[in-house]
Amino acid sequence: MTTPHGVIETPVFMPVGTAATVKGLRQEALEEMGARIILANTYHLYLRPGHELVKKLGGLHAFMSWKNAILTDSGGYQVFSLAELRKITDEGVRFRSHLDGSEHLLTPEKAAEIQLALGSDIAMVLDECIETPAPRNVAEAALRRTTIWAGWARRYFQEYAKKNGEPAQWQFGIVQGATFADLRRESARQLLELDFPGYAVGGLAVGEPHEMTCEMAAEVTALLPKERPRYLMGVGRPEQIADYVARGIDMMDCVLPTRAARHACLYTSEGKVLIKNARYIEDKRPIDPKCKCSVCQRYTRAYLRHLFAAGEITAAILATHHNVWFYLDIMRQIRDAISFGQLENFAAELRARYEAGPA
Ligand SMILES: [Zn+2]
Repeated sequence: MTTPHGVIETPVFMPVGTAATVKGLRQEALEEMGARIILANTYHLYLRPGHELVKKLGGLHAFMSWKNAILTDSGGYQVFSLAELRKITDEGVRFRSHLDGSEHLLTPEKAAEIQLALGSDIAMVLDECIETPAPRNVAEAALRRTTIWAGWARRYFQEYAKKNGEPAQWQFGIVQGATFADLRRESARQLLELDFPGYAVGGLAVGEPHEMTCEMAAEVTALLPKERPRYLMGVGRPEQIADYVARGIDMMDCVLPTRAARHACLYTSEGKVLIKNARYIEDKRPIDPKCKCSVCQRYTRAYLRHLFAAGEITAAILATHHNVWFYLDIMRQIRDAISFGQLENFAAELRARYEAGPA
């Protein structure tokens, strides 16, 4: 995938940098571990520090001093999950900021405008996120609205391009349809007419069984063009990532490696290590003896456990570094496995190791 901020090998995992920072990691660390693209949240940056300020300071890349690619979401997911007093109309979503209670209206056009101001490499259209499991009529209504909104966002983006010249940004559509295969296919077909340079699959991995997520992803990727990136939003657990790739997914993002790290949950090639556990008090091994990250080259489980027990911020920093490295490394291994025709074997092996658990 060639973006204005570099070539990205796919499949790719995008660490989540909510408020223009991957919590606990400096940009140098992300570069060192080979992160080529990160995700930033439009909702958070719109409310604080504000997209106009970011634009004034040269755009998101300059503001946060990040030279590689950035994908911004539409802000919709956070409005639906974080904001107060939200009200959905045909026009958009009216909500109150979770920070100061101020009232805002997020429309498909506004979401596009904010992301153009931020200057991300990939922008997402506003879609309607629903709670799952959803009854069919609710999923249908959300799908209808998502398509209409995608059309408005696309038109806004194209008119902007006509007036200001082609922006250095791609706009992706988002396929909805909850867990109904026919609705997923219908959504994909409708969005294909809008000719997006890439497509996401949204509203999955929100509590439904993993097999269902895979099935829905496969339904959608079967219809979407192979030469355009296909992005499964908000996934996944380490042992599940290869399953999505096998279904044709090229891009993923997830807060799991960073969030779990702050809660002392470390992902390793042998499964999860809950580092606060007393069994690690005298453990002189690294977090993952197979990991080549700089944390594993230097520090022991005993030391990490001590830092967490003492409430030291270094604990979160080291744990996050390892977890993000681990996710990026899984994707590297998946790309290698694909080139050797070994993806199925790799997926099965990782799953088996996760089931067995760490030594
Ligand atoms: Zn490591």
